[in-house]
Amino acid sequence: MTDRAQYTAITRGIAVSVEPTYLEANSSPGNSQYVWAYQVTIERLDDQLCPTEPSSQRVICKHSYELTTVTLAEAGFDDEEISDVIRVMSRNGGHCDCEILYNVAEESRLKSRYWNSRVAKSE
Ligand SMILES: [Zn+2]
Repeated sequence: MTDRAQYTAITRGIAVSVEPTYLEANSSPGNSQYVWAYQVTIERLDDQLCPTEPSSQRVICKHSYELTTVTLAEAGFDDEEISDVIRVMSRNGGHCDCEILYNVAEESRLKSRYWNSRVAKSE
């Protein structure tokens, strides 16, 4: 396998990157686009709901799949593919954009922030 080349897409000025090598190793060819969709979604949702730049506006979840839908549409997925991805997210406990980060993503800044605040409160 060659270098861990990164796929990077710029959506509204925000870089979304995934590592194709990771995807190849962890998925069969048939579902690799869904693994990619999953990664793009989580990274982009995290960028919006919990931005690293203090100056960027934090998006508040409307408890819908609005951000997920827009993200996937911008990444080139069609309506049917988007509803497939959303169905998988919802089956895994992600019933809206923020729940995808809390319940589906293995790791996200939004989730870390939540747990850090819980720890701070209990001390
Ligand atoms: Zn939500």
